[in-house]
Amino acid sequence: MADDPTPQTHRARYHDRLLAELQDIRTAGDDTTADRQPVVLDQQSVGRLSRMDALQGQAMAQAMQSRRNGRARAITAALERLAGDDFGWCEDCGDYIGTKRLDLDPTILRCVDCAR
Ligand SMILES: [Zn+2]
Repeated sequence: MADDPTPQTHRARYHDRLLAELQDIRTAGDDTTADRQPVVLDQQSVGRLSRMDALQGQAMAQAMQSRRNGRARAITAALERLAGDDFGWCEDCGDYIGTKRLDLDPTILRCVDCAR
């Protein structure tokens, strides 16, 4: 395996940044647990329109959580790569992705050519 061209200073920064983002995602997930619960159909207090609003709100909350889960998986995978030797290498061509691109998003898996 080739030497890792990601400078140690960058690796430390990516690590801290990814951990912080993961923490934010978990906090956001915890804070919105109630929004994703099944909608209780209560004829007394909830009219048809507001029931639809509630179902729509629940669907949106679930979609957002699904996006958060996807991002959390990408971050966890990037943290695992950072801990090992394969961080920063394009998963398609094997070239180094480059710190400029990794600075934008350390979870990126492909170099600019392969991402096109
Ligand atoms: Zn590539």
